[in-house]
Amino acid sequence: MRHLLAGLALALAPLAPQAAELPIFDAHVHYSHDAWEFMPPKEAIAVLRKAGLKRAMMSSSNDEGQQRLYTEAPDLILPSLRPYRSRGDTGSWMRDASVIPYLEERLKKYKYVAIGEFHLYGADADLPVPRRMVQLAKQHKLFLHAHSDTDAIERLFKQDPGARILWAHSGFERPEKVVEALRRHKNLYCDLAFRSDQASGGKVSADWRAAFLEFPDRFMVGTDTYTPERWLYIVEHANWSRQWLSDLPPAVAERIAYRNGEAIFGSMLAR
Ligand SMILES: [Zn+2]
Repeated sequence: MRHLLAGLALALAPLAPQAAELPIFDAHVHYSHDAWEFMPPKEAIAVLRKAGLKRAMMSSSNDEGQQRLYTEAPDLILPSLRPYRSRGDTGSWMRDASVIPYLEERLKKYKYVAIGEFHLYGADADLPVPRRMVQLAKQHKLFLHAHSDTDAIERLFKQDPGARILWAHSGFERPEKVVEALRRHKNLYCDLAFRSDQASGGKVSADWRAAFLEFPDRFMVGTDTYTPERWLYIVEHANWSRQWLSDLPPAVAERIAYRNGEAIFGSMLAR
């Protein structure tokens, strides 16, 4: 993916001035323990500003990382609470009962816009720990940022029909499947993190274009810095996003670039 993105960026024509100025709401950034030394908070914030980000929806394993960033730049960081204390929790958290008191303790102490990003597939969504997490999100009026298949998304909505879900990577589903899910659930939103199939050479594919035009209010972009080195690609990702977004009608491009994220999450911390 690194090479793919780098290659794409090189192959693209220079940005039109208007597109170059498009602010970006990056809905999928992590600042986990191994990134803290690689890129200390002040440097990390400088990268986000250099990328022209209006906001970054941030989560970290453990939560301490993003709290440092939030202290550094409360205007820029929207914290989301992961159920992970270290990177290795990705595949085990849903059976680890100690996750719940951890979430409860953090929710008491800090403000968030979401719980996630978490990894959860199929019937695991109905295990007691995820069930309790869904209830906590409901109680605190938070989004769920779910890296999940369609089955798990359906189960989460069954548990709480009023849930609001940001579907990480749009589930890595085909655009037709994403559209079907968006039609079923009015509170489902999608990030496009770590995907590049929506556009090639700055041109948006026909099936994704149809999805964006039918649901211009439900998509946002994201880098997904799931390893520390990915922080080096935040600027490039923002520029690549501006490039392909400029192939859409300007009002739609602006929504996906930053207006959706801003409208949905922008004022949540002020409550
Ligand atoms: Zn992620």
